[in-house]
Amino acid sequence: MLTNNLGYPRIGGNRELKKACEQYWSGKTTIAQLAHTGRDIRKHNWELQKEAGIDLIPSNDFSFYDQVLDWSLTVGAIPKRYHEVIMNKGNAELDLYFAMARGYQKDGLDITAMEMTKWFDTNYHYIVPEFTKDQKFKLFSTKVLDEYNESKRLGIKTKPVLIGPVTYLLLGKEKEEGFDRIDLIKNLLPVYIEVLKKLEEQHVEWVQFDEPFLCLDLTEKDTEAFHYVYGEIKRQFPKLKTLLTTYFDALKDNTSLAVSLPVTALHIDLVRAPEQMRPVLNVLPDSMLLSVGVVDGRNIWKNDFQATLVLLKSLLSKFDANKLIISPSCSLIHSPCDLGNEHNDTILTPLAAEIKQWLAFAKQKVDEVVVLSQLINNENDALLKLEENIRCAENRRSSLLIHNKEVKKRVSDITVKDENRLSPFALRKHAQHRALGLPLFPTTTIGSFPQTPEVRSWRARYKKGDLSLAEYDALIEKETEETIRFQEESGIDVLVHGEFERNDMVEYFGEQLAGFTFTKNGWVQSYGSRCVKPPVIYGDVYRPAPMTVRWSAFAQSLSDKWVKGMLTGPVTILQWSFVRNDQPRSETCTQIALAIRDEVVDLERAGIKIIQIDEPAIREGLPLRKADWQQYLEWAVRAFRISASGVKDDTQIHTHMCYSEFNDIIQNISDMDADVITIECSRSQMELLDAFADFKYPNEIGPGVYDIHSPRVPSKDEMVNLLKKAMSVIPAAQLWVNPDCGLKTRHWDETKKALIEMVAAAKVLRESVEEAVTL
Ligand code: GLN
Ligand code: ZN
Repeated sequence: MLTNNLGYPRIGGNRELKKACEQYWSGKTTIAQLAHTGRDIRKHNWELQKEAGIDLIPSNDFSFYDQVLDWSLTVGAIPKRYHEVIMNKGNAELDLYFAMARGYQKDGLDITAMEMTKWFDTNYHYIVPEFTKDQKFKLFSTKVLDEYNESKRLGIKTKPVLIGPVTYLLLGKEKEEGFDRIDLIKNLLPVYIEVLKKLEEQHVEWVQFDEPFLCLDLTEKDTEAFHYVYGEIKRQFPKLKTLLTTYFDALKDNTSLAVSLPVTALHIDLVRAPEQMRPVLNVLPDSMLLSVGVVDGRNIWKNDFQATLVLLKSLLSKFDANKLIISPSCSLIHSPCDLGNEHNDTILTPLAAEIKQWLAFAKQKVDEVVVLSQLINNENDALLKLEENIRCAENRRSSLLIHNKEVKKRVSDITVKDENRLSPFALRKHAQHRALGLPLFPTTTIGSFPQTPEVRSWRARYKKGDLSLAEYDALIEKETEETIRFQEESGIDVLVHGEFERNDMVEYFGEQLAGFTFTKNGWVQSYGSRCVKPPVIYGDVYRPAPMTVRWSAFAQSLSDKWVKGMLTGPVTILQWSFVRNDQPRSETCTQIALAIRDEVVDLERAGIKIIQIDEPAIREGLPLRKADWQQYLEWAVRAFRISASGVKDDTQIHTHMCYSEFNDIIQNISDMDADVITIECSRSQMELLDAFADFKYPNEIGPGVYDIHSPRVPSKDEMVNLLKKAMSVIPAAQLWVNPDCGLKTRHWDETKKALIEMVAAAKVLRESVEEAVTL
C-alpha cells in the first residue's frame, strides 16, 4: 500500500510567496531573490512530506502564479500579443509568465492580461489558456523537468504533476471561430511525449496526470481524445507508472471510460463522492491500482478515522491491499498550510482550543494519510493516534459549542409562509411605489464606496488598540456622513451608507454570528498572490444581536432620501466560508438564512424601507454536473427567500449579483422574487439583458451601466446609449440605473465623476420618456 499526495500549498506558511512576488513586481527585489523563495518553499514542502512518510510526493505542484498558466508556458501556448515581450531584451521567462498573468505596461507596451476564471467549483482561479485555429505547441518552459531534478538533488524522488492533455484543452478557450479546441489534441500530444521522454531519461518512476474533467459531462470527442492520448502514452512509455487523478465529483457515466484507460493507477475522490466506490470497484481491471481520496483536501476538518476505516475495510474485503493507494481527495492547495501556525491569541474571535482540536490543515492532512495507512497495516504505533482521533471526534459530535436546540427547532418549523412575501410582486410593486415615491429610472449604487488606505488604517489601529471604539466609530461616522452628502448633492435617488465599517462582506457578518470562528493564518490561494482567509462555520448559526442596524439607522437619520440597508445573503456567506461537514450544506445555509431574516426584519423596524441582500456567489455554488443543478438551486433559492420574506409589502428587497451568465438559471433568479435585482452587464454592452427579456423577467432590474473594475470614467452619453439598449428589451418602468458592482476598490475622484455622469444619464432618459408621453 502506498501513501500519496496530489499537491501541497505553495504560498508558504506565512504567505512568503505572496510577499516575494509582490516585492518583485514592485521592483524592490531581483528575480534571483524571488527564485530563492520559490526554492525554499519547495524544499520545505518536499521535506515535510518525506518526513511524514508520504511515498508519492508531488513536484511541479509549486507555482509562482497558477499551475494552468505554468502548463501553457510548458507547452508553448503563448498568445501572440506577448511575443514582443519575449523579444524585449532583459526579460526572463518569468517576466513573460507574469505578463501573461497580469498584463504588461512597460517599455511603451500596453498588453492586457489573460482571462482568469474559477477552477471548477472552488474559490481558486486559474488563467484560461487561449487557443487559435492553427495553434502550435512546443516544449517551451522546462519547469516540470527542472523541479523534478531539483527534488532529486535533494535526495527526494518526486512524482511530477502534469495537467492531463484533455483537461488542459478543455480548460481553455477558442479565441477565433471555426474550430473546436479538443481537435488540437493531436498537436498537443507530442509535447507531452517529449516531456515524458525527458523525465524518463531522469529515471522518473511515477507521473500524475490531473484529469478532473472526467467528473464532468463529456462529449464523444472528449471521450475519444482520452482514449487516444492515454493509449499513445502507454504505447510509447510502457514501463512508466501513471496516476490518473479525478476529483471534485464522482465519475458517474465516465466510470467505464476511466477504468478502460491504460494507466497504472486511478484516483477517485471519496470525500465528495463516496458513493462511487462500489461502481468503480466493480469494473476496475485487476491490473489497475486504486488511489482513494479519503482525506478532505477542500475543507479544514480533521478526518474521522473511525468512519474512514469502516470505508477502507469494506473496500479491502474485496480488494488487494497491495493495490491500494491512500490519498487526500484532491490537491491540498485548497486548504491552509499548517494548524501549528494558529496560536489562540486573537482578541476578536479566538479559535478556541476546543474548536482547534477538530481541525486539520495541509500539514496535518498529510499526517492523516500516513496514519490511516498505518492503521490499515495494524501498526501499533498508530493506535494511540487513533484513540486521540476518536476522542476529538466524540468531543465534536457532542460539543455544546456546536449544537443549539433552538436553532434546529426553528429550522424544522419553517413553513411555506416563511418562504413567501405577503403578496405577489404585482401587488407589492404598487405598495412600494406609493411608499417610496421614486422617479422613473431611479439611480442607486451597489453598496460600498471607496475603502481608502485611510479607512483601512483606522480599522487596523482600532484592532491594535491604538484607537478606542468611540474614536473609531467617530471616524467611520464622519466618512459615512460625507458619503451621504455627496450622494445627495449628486442627485442619487436611493443612497447607501458606504460600508466603511466592513472589512470583507462575509467576514463582517461571520464575526457577528454565532457558530462562526476565524483563523489567524488560515490563508488559501485565490489567484496569483491573492489569498483569502475564509471564516469557519463550526456550529449552529444564529444572530445574537443586530449586526447592521446601527450603521444603517445612523445613515438614514442623516438624510430625507431613502438609504438602502446592505446585507450579504445566506448562499454567499456559505459559499465563501469553510463549512461544517457534519450536516448537509443546505441545512447550514437555512440557519444563516434565518439569521439574515432577523436582521432584515430589524432593519425594517428601524425605518429602513429598502434592503439589499447581496448574492454574488449564488452561481458559483452550482454543482459541476447539470443533472445536479436543480437540487442545489432549490435550497439556495429557498434560503434567499427565507431571508427576504419577513417584511411588509411596501419594504423593497433588492439583490445584487456580479457574474455575467444568466441564461441557464434565469428561472431560478426570478424565483428568488427580489423586488429589484442589480447585475453586472456593462462589459457585454447589455447583451446579457437578452436573457431577462426573452424570459420576460417580471420584477425590476438595474443592469450595471458602467464597469467599476476599471478606473475609466464613463461619459453620460455612453450610459444613455446603454440604457437605451436596455429599454429596447426591458420596459422603462422596470429599469434602475446603477454601476455594475460595489465601488470599494475605486478612488474617490473617479467615483464622483462617474456617478455624476450616471445621474445625468438617468435624467436624459426621464426627459425623453416624458416627452414621448406628452407627444
Ligand atoms: N454590497 C457589496 C459592495 O458594494 C457587493 C459586493 C459584491 O457584489 N461582491 O461592495
Ligand atoms: Zn458585485
